[in-house]
Amino acid sequence: MSTGRLTIDLDAVAANWRALDAKTGQDVQTAAVVKADAYGLGVAKVARALAAAGARRFFVAVAEEGAALREALGPGPEISIFAGHMSGDTDMIHDLGLVPMLNSVDQLTRHFEALPGHPFGVQLDTGMNRLGMEPAEWATLRDLIVSQNPRLIMSHLACADEPTHLMNRQQLDMFHEMTEGLDVPRSLSATGGILMGADYHFDLTRPGIGLYGGLPFDSAEAVVTLDLPVVQIRDVAAGESVGYSNAWIAEHPTRVATVNGGYADGLARAISNHAVVFHQDTPCPILGRVSMDLITVDVSHLKETPKALTMLGDHQSPDDLADVAGTIGYEVLTQLGARYARYYARGRG
Ligand SMILES: *Cc1c(COP(=O)(O)O)cnc(C)c1O
Repeated sequence: MSTGRLTIDLDAVAANWRALDAKTGQDVQTAAVVKADAYGLGVAKVARALAAAGARRFFVAVAEEGAALREALGPGPEISIFAGHMSGDTDMIHDLGLVPMLNSVDQLTRHFEALPGHPFGVQLDTGMNRLGMEPAEWATLRDLIVSQNPRLIMSHLACADEPTHLMNRQQLDMFHEMTEGLDVPRSLSATGGILMGADYHFDLTRPGIGLYGGLPFDSAEAVVTLDLPVVQIRDVAAGESVGYSNAWIAEHPTRVATVNGGYADGLARAISNHAVVFHQDTPCPILGRVSMDLITVDVSHLKETPKALTMLGDHQSPDDLADVAGTIGYEVLTQLGARYARYYARGRG
């Protein structure tokens, strides 16, 4: 093995979906968000595992992702597109039976003209100001739109990772105000909203990150393990430097392992000289700069010579690494590089 080895536990993904599903009532459907190649983990394998666990509705960001997902899942599961009906997507939406979440008057016009009778949903802006129809345009068009039988009315929370943030309640109130009295299924919550309780659940939830073991779902099962193979080990004398810009200088004689994996593999340069990797249960500090393809690690304290060191696993989650890098678990996962050898495991047995 010369490239990093990324192991994705599909049983853990399925268990996380079931655990999130169990947090809402029997009458609340739990979908699965698999945009960005299932947060970097491989949409075909992940989506099939989720379908086997019971997921029947999937969300992706754009129609092209919907096409890849349809190929993986076959006919049957409902595939919705957050970006809605964009110009050029009509054939894909029609032929693959994708359900666009319409975001604007332009998209409504395009959809009703190009594909009358084709299923659609509507996305409302309740304050995030990113996607969705504004309250004023919705008020004007709402009766017309509802007469066309939307599959879903949805909105998205801006601050659901902070349950006590006032924005959550404001958006909830706005969503109620905009959808009151309509006989259309509604959805407001992603992972964070599910954890905020039944007021936020409505008819359908849309978890993403929680399925993949990420915060704010803190009781999620770990999904990814990333092992980086050791290329070379050397002894460095006191006063010698390691790596680019001499960014680490030995104070004592030090054993340094060089592993394959670097910022081209999604391991942020920001973890230089800060993060640790693990040999079984033992943390080993990263020494100096992360380079494009290589990372240097202090292994002086290990009794054996390691063949590989673990960047992500039971002792260090994507969120832990994100903390060191000054980012979020979502970004760590979606940056995981194309060079890793990927293995799909069922359970950790
Ligand atoms: C990404 C996304 C989700 C999933 O969010 P998580 O925080 O990953 O659970 C749900 N809805 C919308 C509109 C999204 O963009």
